[in-house]
Amino acid sequence: MMKNEEKSMEKIVALCKNRGFIFAGSDIYGGLANTWDYGPLGSRMKNNVKDTWRKRFIQERVNSYEVDADILMHPRVWEASGHVASFSDPLLDCKECKMRFRADNLIDEFDPDAHADGMTKEEMFDYIKAHSIPCPHCGKHNFTDIREFNLMFQTFRGVTNDSKNVIYLRPENAQGEYVNYLNVQRSMRAKLPFSIGQIGKAFRNEITPGNFTFRTIEFEQMEFQTFCKEGSDNELYEYFKEYGKKYFEDLGIPSEHLRYHDHEKLAHYAKAACDIEFLFPFGWGEINGTHNRTDFDLKRHQEYSGKTQEYLDPDTGEKFIPYIIESTYGLDRTVLALLCEAYDEEIVDAEKNDTRVVLHLSPAIAPFKAAVLPLSKKLSDEAMKVYEKLNKKFMVDFDVTGSIGKRYRREDEIGTPWCITYDFDSLEDNCVTVRERDSMEQVRISIDSLEDYFADKITF
Ligand SMILES: [Zn+2]
Repeated sequence: MMKNEEKSMEKIVALCKNRGFIFAGSDIYGGLANTWDYGPLGSRMKNNVKDTWRKRFIQERVNSYEVDADILMHPRVWEASGHVASFSDPLLDCKECKMRFRADNLIDEFDPDAHADGMTKEEMFDYIKAHSIPCPHCGKHNFTDIREFNLMFQTFRGVTNDSKNVIYLRPENAQGEYVNYLNVQRSMRAKLPFSIGQIGKAFRNEITPGNFTFRTIEFEQMEFQTFCKEGSDNELYEYFKEYGKKYFEDLGIPSEHLRYHDHEKLAHYAKAACDIEFLFPFGWGEINGTHNRTDFDLKRHQEYSGKTQEYLDPDTGEKFIPYIIESTYGLDRTVLALLCEAYDEEIVDAEKNDTRVVLHLSPAIAPFKAAVLPLSKKLSDEAMKVYEKLNKKFMVDFDVTGSIGKRYRREDEIGTPWCITYDFDSLEDNCVTVRERDSMEQVRISIDSLEDYFADKITF
């Protein structure tokens, strides 16, 4: 296996484009910065990741409920959450070339040990001046003051573009779970601790370019909020840090490519925060965040909505506002991490200079579980019957074009775990040859037992 640091993002991006995983957004118009479209295989893979998350976080857990809240919410939600007042990036412009930068990024790139994330706006400005940090674009030293730039996308409801009608695209899913916490609690007769999960899109107007799908202005999150009594929060926080790491390991990421990163500077709502980072070819990057949000959000919603957010403990009769432990998973980043982890260039035969590109995706994540390959075009009709039998259960590919060797390689490149070759003997013995992607070993098995053979191996 290649090391992650040796892998080239350029090659991974090219594979994603050429094999239908991920395309540049609005490609025929020259693209739109930091937007990407998932193709047939990418969207399939993304859905497979969602399925594994639902299984681990909703299906296999007691007192876990999924919701699907709207992206558009009452504007007061974002005042209560603190996003209107303080969800911003410190930006400055180069007066010479008019390029815009994040002040903290300029400092971090100048000196990674400077810890810009702990500085105030004024401290950052002074630091940039004192160290004469040049514009990364034109090299001059002539910046504007640092201004806070709100990261929420805003639009207008109805036909008039005035401030009364401002509405935001949600910058996080969490608030959709928080404003529904009592609805879920009552309708499901839930007792603390219980959890609400949600998969959905969020939007952030970031200027930082993104390392492919790592940082995008539109992205999907898989969020999990656990409501609990104060006092049990620290234990649950630690629990979900570990649960998250285990989830990534189950998806096929080895432990040595994952690490925790505890936050020094905490968001306005958090008592403790920790990321799980993955070793991408471009370095360590956050793929999950776990936060102890205390009772901040629900207290604020009580204040701003005027509706009580207290939980009534049915056993003790006690009333209180619960604490929230949030564990949030970047879906696009998880997909990217799995693609980077799976990517491999393997020398098959050094003498013949024969290398194959293979994605070692776990069968649960692979877009296609198997591919049916008739050895000759004459066998297509019979092989199609095998395909039609299997596609009732799994996503299966069918390919008749090119030599069998070339077809194997094409399936390796998109991570298909098994190739099923239908040959002339199959007409007689009702058996096919199944070739395993990683070992390239082949076994002969009967068509009737294929379904069970795969079902055992695809489980998550
Ligand atoms: Zn400049």
